[in-house]
Amino acid sequence: MLYTVNFALNKFYKMATLRFYAIKESLNRQPINVEETNRRSSLFGLNVFNDRAMLQALTKDSYQRVKDAIDKGAKINRVTADQIALAMKEWALSKGVTHYTHWFQPLTGSTAEKHDSFFETTSDGIAIERFAGDQLVQQEPDASSFPHGGIRNTFEARGYTAWDPTSPAFIYGKTLCIPTVFVSYTGEALDYKTPLLRALNAIDSAAVDVAKYFDKNVKKVNASLGWEQEYFLIDYALAASRPDIVLAGRTLLGHSPAKGQQLDDHYFGSIPNRAMAYMRDLEVESLLLGIPVKTRHNEVAPNQFELAPIYEEANLAVDHNSLLMDIMEKVAKRHNFKVLFHEKPFDGVNGSGKHNNWSLSTNTGINLLAPGTTPMSNLQFLTFFINTIKAVHDNEELLRASVASASNDYRLGANEAPPAIISVFIGEQLTKVLKELETVTKGKLSPEEKTDLKLNVVGKIPEILLDNTDRNRTSPFAFTGNKFEFRAVGSTANCAKPMTVLNSIVAKQLVEFKKEVDALVDNKDFKKDEAIFNILREYIKESKNILFEGNGYGEDWQKEAKKRGLSNNKTTPEALKAKISSKTIDMYRSLGVMNEVEIKARYEIDMEEYAMHIQIEGRVLGDIAKNHVIPTAVKYQNILIENVKGLKDIYGAQFKTYAKEQLDLIQDISLRIESINTGVNKMVEERKKANKIQDSEKRAKLYCNKVKPFFDDIRYHCDKLELMVDDEIWPLTKYRELLFTK
Ligand code: ADP
Ligand code: MG
Repeated sequence: MLYTVNFALNKFYKMATLRFYAIKESLNRQPINVEETNRRSSLFGLNVFNDRAMLQALTKDSYQRVKDAIDKGAKINRVTADQIALAMKEWALSKGVTHYTHWFQPLTGSTAEKHDSFFETTSDGIAIERFAGDQLVQQEPDASSFPHGGIRNTFEARGYTAWDPTSPAFIYGKTLCIPTVFVSYTGEALDYKTPLLRALNAIDSAAVDVAKYFDKNVKKVNASLGWEQEYFLIDYALAASRPDIVLAGRTLLGHSPAKGQQLDDHYFGSIPNRAMAYMRDLEVESLLLGIPVKTRHNEVAPNQFELAPIYEEANLAVDHNSLLMDIMEKVAKRHNFKVLFHEKPFDGVNGSGKHNNWSLSTNTGINLLAPGTTPMSNLQFLTFFINTIKAVHDNEELLRASVASASNDYRLGANEAPPAIISVFIGEQLTKVLKELETVTKGKLSPEEKTDLKLNVVGKIPEILLDNTDRNRTSPFAFTGNKFEFRAVGSTANCAKPMTVLNSIVAKQLVEFKKEVDALVDNKDFKKDEAIFNILREYIKESKNILFEGNGYGEDWQKEAKKRGLSNNKTTPEALKAKISSKTIDMYRSLGVMNEVEIKARYEIDMEEYAMHIQIEGRVLGDIAKNHVIPTAVKYQNILIENVKGLKDIYGAQFKTYAKEQLDLIQDISLRIESINTGVNKMVEERKKANKIQDSEKRAKLYCNKVKPFFDDIRYHCDKLELMVDDEIWPLTKYRELLFTK
């Protein structure tokens, strides 16, 4: 009996239908049945043109050429490309595929595809299925609507996509998807993948050079990435009943429920049935596409979950994360859910991140960031470990910039999330080791000192570092035993951004390190290990300020970080600055990752996107406040007024004794309506001013500093009204309904 109400008040109650309709829908849901096998390995990669498929479909020679392209970056000639295309087509046709597409990651943050069918007619009108080498290798999508930050205006109007053989083709639905880069005709990158591939090349060559100090057989170093995707699952009807979730991907208002995450009963609790069915379905889809998903669990907040795969080579892992986010949305529809990737969809509740676990491994099977069994392998570990810390220390602002976005701004520094200050957590054991290394003698080492270092310092690093006791969940950048975990990355992010920066800064650092070590060996006649100890000692001293083992919340750390000279860029426009500093430009140029045009174009795009994001939020908030909240408050106020009039009829002059609370409420509602209305009007004025500004950096700053500050106050009064107004006429689905409907 949701909508039948007191007859006399009927004129007031008519509107709240969508919310209650959605609640009713959501309560009637059943888990969707998912058929699956328990032997999941049998599904793995079935829809991927992987090694196994290639071995079966290609001649030995063609197969070898693809492998050379993947491993050594060798070019693929026309004839081989034709053979591969033919094999790919036959493989795809045998699996019911009709279309193909170049699949790429433009700077919009999503993936792009344009489907063409294999179907063609020859000049004689004969109908065939065709897919040739040129269609595999290069395409020219109509790219005019993708963001380019001015590159294509200045240079060349067209852009093209080019096959990336290091990420295998896959079948999604009835389409063969070919991962590609997206570049302008003059060669500037228009996507996330191109600079990432260049950064991965840079770290490969720099890390190989350094690893050769320890093992001459090292020929290749791969960066690995294991991401952990956090997300919220909200019933589809409930999500659809909230204009802010639909349009901005998060709630812009809504009062906290009486029960939040305080009891922590959701975390590692049993996964609710509907969510479990969704996860099973999602995992099957992922495995078919070769995404090695492994772990699933509840996260801290109600209806928040996490999915993590086995780590992979970074380029592939980045593609797999983008693909996964696509699949997650599609599978969610089948299960009547909406996935929220937003970093902070609910105020007062944990946000979502996407931890990026990163390490470096050699072709000889060694993880360079894992301690080994001999003093020599541990010195190698320490070399890469300390160089990474130094790189983060020297480039903390750029690293912060790599995770900056309008949505992540709401998360960094909030609740459980890492702060906007970048610091490195290494745990107690390694802190001790660095302290010891800091005291290494300057210059040549005595034989005794060397032996002591090898036996008692380097030699004593345990093979397995378990710092579980002080595992610091809030550190933005933590060493976790055999990898670094970059935790400041937001859940909506394309991992290519942080991965391009991290691999570039470490590459740059390793190049520097090698130069310095070689100089000591060549000019001062140092032994190699002496030189390494000497340089590492200086690095430890120079980068001490970035090490922080404490809890990242609160004023204390902010003050301390300021003293240490660490940046604390709380907003995206502030943070992005580091992307175009001359230091950044020099670094990218020296590594061949990006040129100045590409760097500045990305900066423009980021700034534009930021302003657009806040603009949309401002519009939606204004609409909801004026069209939903205020009219509802007025309606409720009218009910109170009727009530007061009735009391007056009964009690005459004495009515105030009995109508006191109602009168207070009537007044309070009026004041809040006024606050909301003036807030929205002022915000609209500021938006108008900002929109007139052409310069994207200035516009972003206006949105950040002049428009966004109104959000909190408008919301505050709306949320207060939510608490006052009769639940039955409140039109917006409430937090408790969104978060506790399973
Ligand atoms: P959590 O951080 O949730 O405790 P783990 O630390 O076990 O979980 O691992 C999380 C992620 O780290 C997974 O995606 C896993 O594949 C990845 N990972 C594990 N080892 C490495 C490594 N050497 N390099 C990169 N990623 C790794
Ligand atoms: Mg983790």
